[in-house]
Amino acid sequence: MQLYDLHTHTNMSDARFSIEDLVSVEQKQGHILGVSDHLFCCGIYTLNDIKNYLEILQLYPVYRGAEVNMEHRFKLPDSLDDQLDYVIASVHSMPDGRGGFVPLNQYFSKRSGFTDAYSKNYSSDMNRYYLAYIIQMMEKTFSTQRVDILGHATVIPSYDELHGTSFLTQWEDAVIALCKKYDIALEISGLWRAPGVDVLRRAHEAGLKFSMGSDCHDPIQIGNLAYVEQMITELDLQPEDFFVPKRQLSFD
Ligand SMILES: [Zn+2]
Ligand SMILES: [Zn+2]
Repeated sequence: MQLYDLHTHTNMSDARFSIEDLVSVEQKQGHILGVSDHLFCCGIYTLNDIKNYLEILQLYPVYRGAEVNMEHRFKLPDSLDDQLDYVIASVHSMPDGRGGFVPLNQYFSKRSGFTDAYSKNYSSDMNRYYLAYIIQMMEKTFSTQRVDILGHATVIPSYDELHGTSFLTQWEDAVIALCKKYDIALEISGLWRAPGVDVLRRAHEAGLKFSMGSDCHDPIQIGNLAYVEQMITELDLQPEDFFVPKRQLSFD
């Protein structure tokens, strides 16, 4: 199957390599590439920054994507939105139910192997509340903003801690139902090796589309879709089970 890497970063946001390096490594790997740097953080803050980012992407044979924080509003003016081939929305902090958010940067750094240190900044007693609020946040975002792909949906510390509970199964089913309702592809993530095969099986049965992404930030992570390939084999996924941006890429 043709592999697409639609979740990638560059040093225009928070990755440690240039777009030239990203394009050349992915080309060697035979992947079709989409670049999805973080918007409204990590170097791309203003609408003018986004315009510059999109202009740079136009110089390469890549899809023009973006990753946004689910917890922020990210509606773009049409002139910019029209140039984006897709938007990935991901949870990067947990709503605390009182209008505040628990940032998850340290959890991500630790889980991706970038740092060893991790001081927990939330209460395990609140795990079910955090996840319940995340469902509310997802529905609000999906119903009011443009989202094509739900990024690393299950990479949340409260999710890890509730492993094996029936609450978690219901939560996963709620996420699947929201993606179905709003026609949003569920990402299979190379970096995070998530969601788990059981979630993906249920999502597949529900008729969801999937999306492939390495979520690379380090050179060694570029194009790592081993977990995606494993899931394709295990669930016998076909090309039509995957989201593909509409625009035809030219390779001249
Ligand atoms: Zn992310
Ligand atoms: Zn990312």
